Amino acid sequence: MKPRLPIAHLPTPVEALPRLSALLNGPDLLTKRDDQTGLAFGGNKTRKLEYLMYAAQEAGADTLITAGAVQSNHCRQTAAAAARFGMACILVLFGDPPNPPDANHLLHHLLGAKVIFTDRSQVNQQLEEAVEQARSDGRQPYLIPYGGSNPIGAMGYVQAMLELAQQGMHPDWIVFPSSSGGTQAGMLVGAQMSGYQGQILGISVDEPADKLRESVADLATRTARSLGEGVTFSAQDVLVKDEYIGGGYAVMGSAEVEAIRLFAEYEALLVDPVYTGRAAAGLIDLIRQGFFKTGETVLFWHTGGTPALFAGKYQREILK
Ligand SMILES: *Cc1c(COP(=O)(O)O)cnc(C)c1O
Repeated sequence: MKPRLPIAHLPTPVEALPRLSALLNGPDLLTKRDDQTGLAFGGNKTRKLEYLMYAAQEAGADTLITAGAVQSNHCRQTAAAAARFGMACILVLFGDPPNPPDANHLLHHLLGAKVIFTDRSQVNQQLEEAVEQARSDGRQPYLIPYGGSNPIGAMGYVQAMLELAQQGMHPDWIVFPSSSGGTQAGMLVGAQMSGYQGQILGISVDEPADKLRESVADLATRTARSLGEGVTFSAQDVLVKDEYIGGGYAVMGSAEVEAIRLFAEYEALLVDPVYTGRAAAGLIDLIRQGFFKTGETVLFWHTGGTPALFAGKYQREILK
């Protein structure tokens, strides 16, 4: 494995969800609590940042630059890592700035990040400009890609799969939200290394399955190479369901609302409107369809995102 900065609270616990299993008359449900990784409300990006922060320090960086949506969990955790290690942080954000700033966006500010708003189509150009500007200001910028999804960040989920095996957990299925693909790519590589025999099923948050499967396979191949493993992954090796995208990224529908409420009322597990609520809605639907066999164990990997529950734009619909 590659070196990392210890930032996250690891191992994250694995917990049973017996009330939800009974309610849905479904398989044995478990959850892995990566919503509890500890860095300013935690989430899956904290695992990626352990490796990215090590690389940033090696490169002598004093400024982190990354991009995301206005309520980005990735940007929140990146800003938190910067604060914790005494670096500056510049966030290039797209979407409508909430007034007043709430949820993750409040935390972006609170954690001391400098925020640049732009149009979604301009993100890459703005990132380049921010890097140039930082250099001409005499700083040492380190660019972290969207979602922290490159072979360095994906290492966080290679490690996470080794951690799951060390916890003695061998579920038949792992179900979780998949978007920029680093989590799923890391899991695939980690599964090879740990000998995990079950299925890794990403619920797409925003991408058509074909596209996401290609990008996950490509990133998994590059991640494996960076570890000196000569395995090649193809799109057929990547399981994705894209039936739950609904109105698109960050558009909460009735399925997410139901999932948010059921997970809270039956297990006191808080899932979010954008990522984990969508994956939870997919999981509920798959159970109702009889997708899983009786006697199987399904682990819902809770990737975080809970601060988005406090975004004003969702609150009225959640409580309706
Ligand atoms: C970023 C994020 C994901 C998706 O992870 P990727 O590695 O981008 O696929 C899932 N859940 C939450 C809460 C996230 O913030």
